[in-house]
Amino acid sequence: MKATKITALLFSLLLLASCAAPAAEEYTTTFLAMDTVMSVTAYGAGAQGAPEAAAERIRELEKLLSVTAEGSDVWNANHSGGEAVEVSPDTASLLRRALELCRSTGGALDVTIYPLVKAWGFTTGEYRVPVREELSALLERVDYARVALEGDRLCVPDGMELDLGAVAKGWTGDQVAALLADSGVTSAKLELGGNVQVLGAKPDGSPWRIAVRDPNGESYAGIVEVTDKAVVTSGGYERYFEADGITYWHIIDPASGCPARSGLASVTVIADSGALADALSTALFVLGAERAADYWRERRDFDFILLGEDGSVTVTPGIAERFTLCGSWESRRAEVVDVSSGVCK
Ligand code: AMP
Ligand code: MG
Repeated sequence: MKATKITALLFSLLLLASCAAPAAEEYTTTFLAMDTVMSVTAYGAGAQGAPEAAAERIRELEKLLSVTAEGSDVWNANHSGGEAVEVSPDTASLLRRALELCRSTGGALDVTIYPLVKAWGFTTGEYRVPVREELSALLERVDYARVALEGDRLCVPDGMELDLGAVAKGWTGDQVAALLADSGVTSAKLELGGNVQVLGAKPDGSPWRIAVRDPNGESYAGIVEVTDKAVVTSGGYERYFEADGITYWHIIDPASGCPARSGLASVTVIADSGALADALSTALFVLGAERAADYWRERRDFDFILLGEDGSVTVTPGIAERFTLCGSWESRRAEVVDVSSGVCK
């Protein structure tokens, strides 16, 4: 009799516990946009319909920012013959931010890199290695400082072309995160191609666990735990081709016109802003470990994880405790960037 009562009591307690903490509702949508697969997942009662609204906003931005879609703001500016064109407030706002980061990275990020990206065949898949003379001529047409943006009037000099591929997805992540927050969502995960951006914590209150890909394979090199952050990775492995035993990838050093060879295999940037994380993951890949650490010391409003081609791992102090190496990287030790000098400890 007693045992039956205890069992009944335990059963009702279990029932109560499951009533008290119901799993948050999950709403998700997966779609193709900006040349990649994207998914938006939002949690909680107020999240119904939010992923679809996010997808609509992304498609709207894609129409403005695409370099290939005739009639987009970027296409219009690239085909204006050097005349100023009127662009939407969204395009102007993204470009203002991007140009600021081109300046602050000393041109490692350059949004006018498109002629070079095309010459190497990364826009069509018809890969080729341009000769030195061709690269020199194309470099004459690459210089973000010659792009003029005044209010919503954008002027790209004749012969030059904008490419927002290094920043558009990250900036879009910020717009979508703000849209979700405005509609009352407090927990969400955006996967925009390789860019991840999370709103708040997981529905159970714990941090999101975001995997950093192993640049040498299909698996993971580590896991980073974050709340309310963008986590964006740039790596040579994302798009590349091989010719005569040499690998050429899609991140171009605007100083040489060639794929950036800084000794890094991938750069992951963790920041409050997706625009910042996206722009810097590309720029720091170009700059290499030492200059990336110098740049971080100057501003400190982001964290990074650098995976070197030699297997080295370098992280900023803000992320060191929240990053765990795994898989074939597990036995390695991450160097932590020293805050005050050029050496790592
Ligand atoms: P991400 O994957 O964000 O690193 O962006 C890489 C893309 O940005 C490339 O596919 C090019 O379209 C473009 N890109 C390549 N190199 C640069 C550069 N140095 N600055 C700006 N955009 C670049
Ligand atoms: Mg980028």
